[in-house]
Amino acid sequence: MPVRSCASSSRLLVRRLAELGRVSDEAGRLTRTFLSPAMRRANALVGGWMREAGLAVRVDATGNLIGRLEANCRAGSPNPARIDPLGGGVRRPRPTKTLLLGSHLDTVRDAGKFDGALGVLLPIVALGELRRRGVALPFAVEVLGFSEEEGVRFSGAYLGSKGYAGELRTADLKLCNARGVSVREVLEEFAKTKFTPPRAAHRSRDLLGYVETHIEQGPVLEKRKLAVGVVSAIAGQTRGRLTFRGQAGHAGTTPMALRRDALAGAAEFVLLAEALARGCEPLVATVGAVAVAPGAPNVIPGEVVLSLDVRHPRDGSRRAALQLLLVGAKKIARVRRLAVAWQPTQDNGAVACSPQLTALLEQSVRAVQRRSLSLVSGAGHDAVVLSALTPVAMLFVRCRDGLSHHPDEFAASADLDVALQVIVDFLRRLAQASPS
Ligand SMILES: [Zn+2]
Repeated sequence: MPVRSCASSSRLLVRRLAELGRVSDEAGRLTRTFLSPAMRRANALVGGWMREAGLAVRVDATGNLIGRLEANCRAGSPNPARIDPLGGGVRRPRPTKTLLLGSHLDTVRDAGKFDGALGVLLPIVALGELRRRGVALPFAVEVLGFSEEEGVRFSGAYLGSKGYAGELRTADLKLCNARGVSVREVLEEFAKTKFTPPRAAHRSRDLLGYVETHIEQGPVLEKRKLAVGVVSAIAGQTRGRLTFRGQAGHAGTTPMALRRDALAGAAEFVLLAEALARGCEPLVATVGAVAVAPGAPNVIPGEVVLSLDVRHPRDGSRRAALQLLLVGAKKIARVRRLAVAWQPTQDNGAVACSPQLTALLEQSVRAVQRRSLSLVSGAGHDAVVLSALTPVAMLFVRCRDGLSHHPDEFAASADLDVALQVIVDFLRRLAQASPS
């Protein structure tokens, strides 16, 4: 199947990314947080672009922007999806499977304009491109702009996709921001009514899958000189605190042989974690925070608390690596006459991407840029939550220096053009593979 250029559509995508990048809660820098005024403006702007592409638009109870295109809609023909004025959602003309495409519209503070926004705007432009070519898809499509992924306003992330997937729990609603305002209160203020956690927007059997396009947020594609790559799995993650306890003492009068220096033990552990992960790719292990007590230049450190973050695309390998690290920590502690304690704080299983959707996406990548590259996502994405509802697949787009969560975050227009061609090609392949 020949791949056609999407040059004018990719220029439109670049312009829209720039325009959406100016919709911010803060002057002079990009910040859009859950249900903020800028998020409402972003929903209005992106919703307008969805309508232009022929989608029926609504915002759900969790603030997610949803654009729906029914199956077999051609250019010029009306989209049979209608908005129920009472807020009951979209009426469908007949049962049909739905493909979900999307990402998040919220950002971190002082963000770049590609993280999240790309995965919402690209499918809108891709559907517009197909409409212009007169191509109708034999399945319905929903483009999703999730209201919260970054965990900025509240410490918990994925509030938008959890709402859409029916995964919002009481614990999520009880989360409070720094001023003591809860997620539930913010949602009730948004909806002007009592908030009840919604059920999943679809039954799993009615869905074809969820496909998310996202900047890589890492350096692999840049190093391999490729515009895009296909994600095989999203790494599972364990986080926790490791405490080494020794004996604080005078830095001048305590002989070296008699010391029980907690920081020296902790330093040995940091190097152990680095060495273990270096030898077990794609394992990554990071000590990102160290608290030393009492923390004075003339006192031997008596206690050190380390953060540890361990990630691997296979849960068994992640758990095995964690065990090796904890055994190593105990050995270091024994030799140095320290006490050691481990307190886990987070444990998320890995998400394997759908073999079928991923294989199709790889065919499209090969058709557009000749070579496909399989990548593991070390960062979490909305696809993690959506995987509870439907099979997921992800396309990564190269970003300069692997930089994200920063105003200098950048994806080249040529790479966005490749990503757009891939998604257009993927939709056509999926249409051919689906019964009409
Ligand atoms: Zn993101």
